[in-house]
Amino acid sequence: MPERTESDSRRLLRRLRDTLAEPGAGQERLDRIVRLIASAMGTEVCSVYLFRDDDTLELCATEGLKRESVHKTRMKLGEGLVGRVAKTSTPINTANAPAERGFRYMPETGEELFSSFLGVPIQRLGEKVGVLVVQSKEARQYSDDEIYALEVVAMVVAEMSELGAFIGEGEALSAPHKHAVLFRGGSGQEGAAEGRVWLHEPRVVITNPVGDDPVKELERLTAAVTELRLSVDAMLSTTEVTDTDQQQVLEAYRMFANSRGWMRRMEEDIARGLSAEAAVEKEQSAARARLEQVPDPYLRDRLNDLDDLSNRLLRILTGQGTDTGASMPDNPILVARNIGPAELLDYGRKLKGVVLEEGSVGSHAAVVARALAIPLVIHADLITTEALNGDHILVDGDVGTVHLRPEETVARAFREKIAMQAEAQKRYASLRELAATDLSGRTISLQMNAGLMADLPSLTPSGAEGVGLFRTELQFLVRSHVPKRGELAGLYARVMEAAKGKRVVFRTLDIGSDKVLPYMKRVEEPNPAMGWRAIRVGLDKPGVLRMQLQALLRAAAGRPLSVMFPFVAEFEEFREARQKLLDEVENERSLGHTLPSILEIGAMLETPSLAYAPDAFFQMTDFISIGGNDLKQFFFAADRENERVRKRYDMLNGSFLTFLEMIVARAARFGTPLSFCGEDAGRPVEALCLAALGFRTLSMRPASIGPVKHLIRRVDLTALKAVLDAARAEGVPTARPAVMDFLARQDL
Ligand code: PEP
Ligand code: MG
Repeated sequence: MPERTESDSRRLLRRLRDTLAEPGAGQERLDRIVRLIASAMGTEVCSVYLFRDDDTLELCATEGLKRESVHKTRMKLGEGLVGRVAKTSTPINTANAPAERGFRYMPETGEELFSSFLGVPIQRLGEKVGVLVVQSKEARQYSDDEIYALEVVAMVVAEMSELGAFIGEGEALSAPHKHAVLFRGGSGQEGAAEGRVWLHEPRVVITNPVGDDPVKELERLTAAVTELRLSVDAMLSTTEVTDTDQQQVLEAYRMFANSRGWMRRMEEDIARGLSAEAAVEKEQSAARARLEQVPDPYLRDRLNDLDDLSNRLLRILTGQGTDTGASMPDNPILVARNIGPAELLDYGRKLKGVVLEEGSVGSHAAVVARALAIPLVIHADLITTEALNGDHILVDGDVGTVHLRPEETVARAFREKIAMQAEAQKRYASLRELAATDLSGRTISLQMNAGLMADLPSLTPSGAEGVGLFRTELQFLVRSHVPKRGELAGLYARVMEAAKGKRVVFRTLDIGSDKVLPYMKRVEEPNPAMGWRAIRVGLDKPGVLRMQLQALLRAAAGRPLSVMFPFVAEFEEFREARQKLLDEVENERSLGHTLPSILEIGAMLETPSLAYAPDAFFQMTDFISIGGNDLKQFFFAADRENERVRKRYDMLNGSFLTFLEMIVARAARFGTPLSFCGEDAGRPVEALCLAALGFRTLSMRPASIGPVKHLIRRVDLTALKAVLDAARAEGVPTARPAVMDFLARQDL
């Protein structure tokens, strides 16, 4: 094979680009490309394999292998050497291919004649497009220089594919971003929505992967990198950095922006004929491929930083910034790799749905999406590479699937589902003014959970009698600094005003576990859900708690105030927290401030231990609210964030029902008002059973109030209690079948 020079490389890239301008269908173009590459690389074989579907590669063009095998030879991802290159996104270079691990002989191609093999991935921003292979008879390793040259070529082939250069023939050559794609992710927030894609960070389109003049391209890159560095420096100087961890992250960011290694690789790419933006993207793709292999979360974060920087650089180079000229479509569905809670709040309720590649059920974005009641699908792998602004999209937050550019039949079925849900909502609206009274005359108070000012408008239309749980941490999560007392007091006052005299139960800061404040020092804990969180932080470091209590007292200013403390595990913790609040009351009094007209101090019962607290606890609390999400996870020792075990234990499990009933009885003995505010309170069947067990107050998402009320009004809770008792007496693992049977007998 001849020595490869940079000018050879540039010549080849230019000739490849010219094939784009030449007439002809996709297949002709591919055939020309493999001929060009084989000749320029001095190899007997050059082949292009492209993905036919997510899991199958197909030989789409070859120079040197038997032509009959084109569009016939296929392999699964991971199968044979080609499949392995695609799977691992790393080149394979071998002098003796048949002896290589995983080699699969494909007789139809005639490849047994060729001993050496070099395969490199064709990929674009982590999206696997295919594999580019050269082979020779002579048994020899390809040089690093040759591998590099082939990677540069693969980059151009990937961009050509993105531009639709290979459309036309063969199923594997389908047009990019045109066909229907189904993404199976996870459910972050229930609900279904149809709309148009709105990319949080619009996809950068590279129209010129090949640079004509390396000197000019290098100048463009240098200018763009300078601009990037300046913007990173500006970010560092304007961001209030109060925390050393955060400082380190930003410094790492700056380090990348100044990284010589990163720059050098891009300069080499340009010298070989890539345009400045193609060079950035090539290194970004390589970083993403590495990201997939890296288990260390710290390193992953660093590679993510690099990915972000590359995105910024691409935007500078292409001028495709946030202002792409595109305007937000009607019914926008936000598609993003990930999004921060503050950014999501900025979009607010105008979004019909959100789809993320990352995220988790407990992530801040999920918390906000839930508060805004926007359907959210998480873990939709690679959707940002596939989706284009304006694409038709269906989001099913109930099951966690996304249909991108769906077939009309799928869309029709989906619309029916949405229509049925809307119909049901209309029916529920007619119940708004009616009480949730069952057939035996028992009335249940239905309240709503909230966490943002944006939730309050739902109070009246949902028919909620009040806010049974106001999660105050959301206000802390969406800021980049600790909110000031005055800010918080203003906000709490607005919440009380918006509630128009209805009761609002403010839960003090429940931070820790999955809810980490960006500006607080992160404490690495082996098991954060059982770690230093909520009231534990509040008691050990009382500064923020005290400030929050003052803000609440000032906001109330003569109105009634209800405060509850989260995650109390023993009586003493409650007593201490309560005392802190009473001290603040005294303080306010001495300052001459108006005190709340009534002050109720309650506790959340979220740990099994508190159910067995001394009687004095039940006597001292003005009210108790069961945080069922946490209580259930600790009762069954099943992590609420772990999809594997989360659904394993049913809330209607006999032991759990008996446990809840015991709490109901203890609270009743002392006349302590008891409510239930976990997610289960908003699930109609579970809500019925809680009411049957004796809960008189349930607090839930506003959208759940209608369905729960509808069901309560049609059921005899006393009869249902008998069903629960019988199921438990029988010893079945869960009372659910018996309950469903009971409801079915009444056509419910
Ligand atoms: C709960 O644990 O049930 C609860 C309401 O609190 P959170 O979901 O905020 O932990
Ligand atoms: Mg909780």
